[in-house]
Amino acid sequence: MTPHSLSDRIASLPKAELHLHLEGSVQPATVCALTARHGVVMTEEEVRQRYAYRDFSEFIEAFKWVTSFLRDPQDYALIARDLAEHLLAQRVIYAEVTLSIGVMLLRKQRPEANFEALLSATEPFESCGLRFRWIFDAARQFGADAAMEVVESAKRCNSKAIVAFGIGGDELSVPTGEFRPIYDRAVQIGLHKLMHAGEVGGPEKIREVEICPGSNMKTAALARQLRREDARIEDHPLPKLLRHGIPIVLSTDDPAMFHTTLQQEYANAARMGLQEHELARIVEMGFEHSFLPAEERHGA
Ligand SMILES: [Zn+2]
Repeated sequence: MTPHSLSDRIASLPKAELHLHLEGSVQPATVCALTARHGVVMTEEEVRQRYAYRDFSEFIEAFKWVTSFLRDPQDYALIARDLAEHLLAQRVIYAEVTLSIGVMLLRKQRPEANFEALLSATEPFESCGLRFRWIFDAARQFGADAAMEVVESAKRCNSKAIVAFGIGGDELSVPTGEFRPIYDRAVQIGLHKLMHAGEVGGPEKIREVEICPGSNMKTAALARQLRREDARIEDHPLPKLLRHGIPIVLSTDDPAMFHTTLQQEYANAARMGLQEHELARIVEMGFEHSFLPAEERHGA
């Protein structure tokens, strides 16, 4: 469904989604299927209540709760199929999806087995024109040794579809400098480097800005940055950044958990006052700033 403030032209453009967490993309109906696999019967309404929060820490609690049901490779296959169907409905033809490998390792799972299940679940969608690339993510608060394990598991998976290594989690826990050898190792095995840090990423991402307006609202990041509790989506600085020539990529972050979709994020940008040609330019930038090889960095 096209959000009402979005023109058909923008809605129908094929899009890239570059900042998206698999574990934050599980729609309520799929959460029910997932918990049922492990003997817990829930209604969609109950899941929606879990998906309602006022700030970042409540969101993290909900994220932990959902991931506690991701226990075997088939669970990952289930949510990956769900995500693929959701993305196709959003006209997404290319997605870089972040996987919380740090959490898998913490739970003593084998990331290789989970990743293999993800690949087999998503490969059939390539024939529908949807391509996936994967980002292996460590949790900062688990420390440098655990992060190195994430990089090594990417090496063991040995797949060209894994394009980057990133660090997410609690920004204030471990100093970034401690992860230098881990990033060095990631580069050595051919991965790009990413980092969750406020709105702007690390060295590789400093030239562009991934913006997730719905996420900025739901985690209260926008209100905090603007020092205004009543901050509305129209107050978002996105138009200012774009008009200063800063490359912008629109993304959803955790679409199911933030009750958003990529089309909705474009509609949000339209509500901020962006013109149709500016929205079309943002769609193009989604491909230009992807980890695709240079010759493939254009839309369909
Ligand atoms: Zn994120």
